Amino acid sequence: MTDIRDTVILGSGCAGLTAAIYAGRAGLNPLVLEGHEPGGQLSITTLVENFPGWPEGIQGPDLIENMKKQAARFGATFELAHLNSVKLDGHPIRMNTSSGEVATRTLIIASGASARWLGLPSEQALIGHGVSSCATCDGFFFRGKEIAVVGGGDSAMEEALFLTRFATKVTLLHRRESFRASKIMLERAMAHPNIALRTNTVVEEVLGVEDHEVRGLLLKDVTSGAVDELKISGLFLGIGHLPNARAFHGQMDLDDEGYIKTKDNVLTTHNGVAIPGVYACGDVQDRRYRQAITAAGSGCMAALEAEKYLEAHGH
Ligand code: NAP
Repeated sequence: MTDIRDTVILGSGCAGLTAAIYAGRAGLNPLVLEGHEPGGQLSITTLVENFPGWPEGIQGPDLIENMKKQAARFGATFELAHLNSVKLDGHPIRMNTSSGEVATRTLIIASGASARWLGLPSEQALIGHGVSSCATCDGFFFRGKEIAVVGGGDSAMEEALFLTRFATKVTLLHRRESFRASKIMLERAMAHPNIALRTNTVVEEVLGVEDHEVRGLLLKDVTSGAVDELKISGLFLGIGHLPNARAFHGQMDLDDEGYIKTKDNVLTTHNGVAIPGVYACGDVQDRRYRQAITAAGSGCMAALEAEKYLEAHGH
């Protein structure tokens, strides 16, 4: 018979670690399953300048490491494991993880959303060295430079428009002729003097791997097959995010894009009815703000709810 834990937290990004700090301080000895991308999206970014309390900014990986130490100080334990499957309809909640069976009275889902990447080896090699999926995090570093944004949806339009605050020229690359973006966003991007749109264009390679910084792109026109080089210093991906909530499909209300639908910020539901003891926080339930500080805030709320639930049930 496996021991029953008070609280298990899925995910070790900003939301999960904040939940771990609060649950740890409440004496719940939380177990954090670190997931497929330990540290979450902050661990793949560079300088974080908008997290309150760091006037000079802090490197994303350092911020995560600090939070992890802070949670460990209050008794959180960490396992490099991920969830295979879970049964949410019984108590305790039973999970099958890559490191074995786990039973828990409360579950905090902070499994995040993963940015979609193109999947090119040169793109992957240059993440954090000119390749980014977060304009608000990294746009500032491209002041006075020329950059490119990939995507044809609202995110790409929003990123391109935001990046004109810093970059002298933004080339928006889209793989088709027509756009998925809303009319208003597309029109704004098209009207901007510093944004150039290139349709029917795909990125074949990101140049600069040997110099450890982006120098340009090899682009292919999909209609003519012609390949040419675009000199830029930064590449932003605006091709969407995928919430890491697939394991809950059929047992929890998800929206049409697979994000967990929450009630009162962090309560999960199934067919509209609250699932007792199961909370969701951070990007897995947030397609609107997606900021480190909002993820941390909802992680705190989830831990407080778990604590209240355990107290109400005599634990
Ligand atoms: P999206 O609407 O799904 O658009 C993703 C875009 O990326 C599409 O144009 C798609 O091309 C392209 N794409 C996907 N995979 C690609 C690949 N491997 N290579 C090249 N291009 C690729 O995603 P989103 O823009 O993140 O928007 C998600 C939701 O949030 C939408 O409902 C959107 O309206 C909303 N949103 C709203 C705002 C706003 O109103 N301010 C801002 C951001 C997001 P195809 O078109 O060819 O499939």
